[in-house]
Amino acid sequence: MIRINENYTKLASSYLFADIARRVAAYVAANPSKPVIRLGIGDVTEPLPPVCVEALRAASAEMGERATFKGSGPEQGYAFLREAIAQNDYVERGCAISPDEIFVSDGAKCDCANIQELFAGDIRLAIPDPVYPVYLDTNVMAGRTGPSIGGRYQGVTYLESTAANGYVPDVPSVPTDLIYLCFPNNPTGAVATRAQLAAWVDYARRNHAVILFDSAYEAFIRDPQIPHSIYEIEGARDVALEFRSFSKTAGFTGTRCAYLVVPKGVVAYDTAGKPHSLHNLWNRRHTTKFNGVAYPVQKAAAATYTEEGRRQTRALADFYLGNAKLVRQAMGRLRLRCVGGDNAPYIWVNTGRDSWEFFDLLLNRAQVVCTPGAGFGRCGEGHVRISAFNSRENVVSALDRIARAL
Ligand SMILES: *Cc1c(COP(=O)(O)O)cnc(C)c1O
Repeated sequence: MIRINENYTKLASSYLFADIARRVAAYVAANPSKPVIRLGIGDVTEPLPPVCVEALRAASAEMGERATFKGSGPEQGYAFLREAIAQNDYVERGCAISPDEIFVSDGAKCDCANIQELFAGDIRLAIPDPVYPVYLDTNVMAGRTGPSIGGRYQGVTYLESTAANGYVPDVPSVPTDLIYLCFPNNPTGAVATRAQLAAWVDYARRNHAVILFDSAYEAFIRDPQIPHSIYEIEGARDVALEFRSFSKTAGFTGTRCAYLVVPKGVVAYDTAGKPHSLHNLWNRRHTTKFNGVAYPVQKAAAATYTEEGRRQTRALADFYLGNAKLVRQAMGRLRLRCVGGDNAPYIWVNTGRDSWEFFDLLLNRAQVVCTPGAGFGRCGEGHVRISAFNSRENVVSALDRIARAL
């Protein structure tokens, strides 16, 4: 009799967004004349930048000609894209990252999910609360946690992000081995300062640990004091991997392109204490299990680094940041405390009450959908996430409805 991977049965009930969809569907069925506005799910709404559309078109034409047709490309990505990434995202910011340390993929979600395969089954995890669920769930699936008791998987060190620490967790008092960090943060929109990141790099170095730094929202940073990459911190090249994506930067959620940076100096150890290069292990994994991103998509991603492309992607992020500013102002008028929205497309609202109760209140009174913070972890209780990914028109009318309803 074939058996399942029973770790899957440890996963806490259903996926957050399925719960939300169910409540919204029930409301819409009962109130067909009241259109709802969704400020919940973190998907982009604005179309691709024109430089990307043009690159897709030109590359598609190349694929239709014998002389320029491309079959399988390098699993790690074409050199033109890896070089553009290394130069524009790292070297220009003073980070010594070389093109062969960049692994192009079809999503930071997959990369965040897959990276844990490189590590032993009994390593100690440090995972934020609230959290982008992928970090936690993929480790549950792999059997690195005990069962969930009272909303917490046993054996995980939770990094609590609360109003008390400004939603940026301190390094834990206990040693851990694999640390997930995400700044600008999803769901809170909080950013980490240079000193805060330096404390994490120092902790990782002292503990022979590895930091997985998710900077999917890097393009939204506007404060010049905030680091865009973990590699702006001295010593990070030895202990940190960085995830980036074109999804939020350039509206690629439906086009699919991202990358993982694995510096050659980062190591993890075997049971005999011998260090192994994560770059070698990830290269082995990536070339075995992945067959490259579509050529036209890589050309579209590379187009974001042209002068025109940079201007267009910056304008895209600025547009969403404009929405975020309106949300923050509206929350301020309602005397609700919040973080995020300045250097991130998310606003994390401290509602001062049960987060699902606040969700239902917004849905029933204002026909606006937000994301209940409790769905992101225990520390999300009492909060909701409002997303700036929407049209200006929808944001303005949603805020107008909220102002009347609350
Ligand atoms: C959206 C998002 C990603 C990027 O996902 P893709 O698979 O590249 O679309 C990664 N991390 C976080 C925290 C995100 O919110």
